[in-house]
Amino acid sequence: MSSQITIDGRLGPSANTVRVGTLLVDTGSGTEASIARLRSFAHGVESVALTHFHADHAGGAAALGLPIAAHEAEADTTDPRTGDPWLGFEIPPYRVDRALRHGDTVGELVVVHTPGQTPGHVAYWHEPTRTAITGDLMQQGDVAWVPFGGPWADGALARMVESVRTVAALRPARCISGHGPPVDDVPAAVEFTLRRYEQFAAEPQRAVWHAVRRALVSHLMIQPLSAAQLAALPWAPVAAEALGESPRVIIDRALAGLEQRGVVARGTPEWVTTLPHE
Ligand SMILES: [Zn+2]
Repeated sequence: MSSQITIDGRLGPSANTVRVGTLLVDTGSGTEASIARLRSFAHGVESVALTHFHADHAGGAAALGLPIAAHEAEADTTDPRTGDPWLGFEIPPYRVDRALRHGDTVGELVVVHTPGQTPGHVAYWHEPTRTAITGDLMQQGDVAWVPFGGPWADGALARMVESVRTVAALRPARCISGHGPPVDDVPAAVEFTLRRYEQFAAEPQRAVWHAVRRALVSHLMIQPLSAAQLAALPWAPVAAEALGESPRVIIDRALAGLEQRGVVARGTPEWVTTLPHE
């Protein structure tokens, strides 16, 4: 008998959390409100498995006080690179109790190593329902941003493409994404993602702009910020260097583009996002 899979679909900046029996996959962001919501969703859960160590997925991990499993590449959370601190999100520190490898079993799930956004990013495969819990790997209507700086940027896009192919080869009936609704037409999402990543490979600056827009909106979901504050975030100079501009120029340009799409608006004096968020 396999357990039912339950999803708590969360708005940004938090990632979705998923229950499979007594196992919880991902823990949302680290704010008090997010953790309160996590506690009620995770009532009766006995252990936690993380898709990767980013703040929107691992933020609630420490709060539950349960054993935590994560890929071996992200098991040493004393590593100062844990969570990509250069992204500028801090979360309560947690400890990994079980280091996972590709092919391991966690509850009813099989670990599928899908590196790219982070070195130890994994998907979890639920064979009975042919469901893949894919973290940041696959999304409905968008693609995961590709690291453009920080310790794991080299070769990240190629690894992400490879990881999409790895998941596609399982022929999932459904992918439960870390952000947005589940992907029910998996072949279409795979094609969309690979096509977008081909564009990124042909014009690497597009990947950086995409990531800048995503990061910017995530930060505005946490709090309104001025353009100067946004330009002072740790990733801004890294992106600016990749784009051959100053941090302030790229922030202003990204804000203008997002304003045109109606995704951000000018507050006084800060910028806010118009997207629904937690
Ligand atoms: Zn992530």
